[in-house]
Amino acid sequence: MAAPPRPGFPARIDLGSGAKAPARPAAGAPLAPAVSNATAPQAASMARDPIPARARMVQLLAAEGISDPQVLRAMGAVDRHRFVDSALVPQAYEDTALPIGLGQTISKPSVVARMAELLMQGGLRGPDGKLGRVLDIGTGCGYQAVVLAQLASEVYSIERLRDLHEKARANLRPLRIASVHLILGDGMAGFAKGAPYAGIIAAAGGEAVPDAWIEQLAYGGRLVAPIATAPGQQALVVIDRSRQGIQQTILEAVNFVPLKSGIA
Ligand code: SAH
Repeated sequence: MAAPPRPGFPARIDLGSGAKAPARPAAGAPLAPAVSNATAPQAASMARDPIPARARMVQLLAAEGISDPQVLRAMGAVDRHRFVDSALVPQAYEDTALPIGLGQTISKPSVVARMAELLMQGGLRGPDGKLGRVLDIGTGCGYQAVVLAQLASEVYSIERLRDLHEKARANLRPLRIASVHLILGDGMAGFAKGAPYAGIIAAAGGEAVPDAWIEQLAYGGRLVAPIATAPGQQALVVIDRSRQGIQQTILEAVNFVPLKSGIA
């Protein structure tokens, strides 16, 4: 699959006509107006700088309860608009999941931030306050892997769909982040070569957490993943591993794409 054209910099971001942060769309509500809805001068002025949009997204995340300063800094440091198709750039800093092709989605910023915060609260940290090695299951477009790279010394990110793996490669290339390793493979088996992990995070949910993930988690490490709680229902699960065993906590309901086996 050819990589879609990446938005240039500065990107065209539609912030709406007012100075206020875009209201959070209600579930099922239509997405905010695209650039084409703005008048030409509006679009031109809005095109200049994606940073206010990102800063507003971070404000919204803080208002919604994300309090870890490192996570907020990471969310403010990564250009989400560089990871979506150009037609979706105007929505890049809204709190919505967006399609990235092949029926997959880039997770909502609030979910990425929430999972990163959970990982930071329980994962193994080095003297610099960063997490050690992290396994990211379901690279997709690579956005979350880059967010995690701000918080961890190394990120192993695995994707089962070749086209998305390639897309993530293309998205990451200009960023030149040596600490992110992209792997094409079935993440259900984890990635043993990078184990043990200070943290494991999954962006796709199955019926249960694969044993391999727990085995590859370091003692003192934390895993955060969506898991089926009932037919058609998912919740976030946090698993902390210690030498005494594992402790599992089920948190709020979420809605992730399914975890599938094999490479395609
Ligand atoms: N973190 C991603 C979200 C992508 S959606 C981002 O920031 O864009 C979840 C991804 O998990 C999809 O791309 C899907 O193909 C992938 N996935 C599902 N099952 C998988 C598996 N067994 N191994 C690796 N990736 C998997």
